[in-house]
Amino acid sequence: MPNLETDRGGEPKGAPAAKKPLPVIEVKVAWCKGCGLCVEYCNRGVLQMDGVVPKVVAPEKCTRCMQCEVICPDFAIEVRDGEGQAKSPGEKRG
Ligand code: SF4
Ligand code: SF4
Repeated sequence: MPNLETDRGGEPKGAPAAKKPLPVIEVKVAWCKGCGLCVEYCNRGVLQMDGVVPKVVAPEKCTRCMQCEVICPDFAIEVRDGEGQAKSPGEKRG
């Protein structure tokens, strides 16, 4: 009789889940024209318009599907693996 506890081929039981770093989602405000396409195409609710630029509101929900980056006509949004801090326009002005 197969042992259903161990024959599922998944992760070992009892091992602590490795914490995934949050992606870095960077909006290049100078290039963004505020069309909102990235917000519309993100079906995870990661992005929200904040006035005329998108803002990262839920980086933990990002699946790194890259739809926002692909759809942006101005190459103004970038998603990459990171150590944890997602940037949004309000955080830093440069
Ligand atoms: S990579 Fe995908 S899930 Fe993440 S912000 Fe862009 S569209 Fe949303
Ligand atoms: S799709 Fe690009 S240009 Fe349009 S709001 Fe998003 S970042 Fe800005």
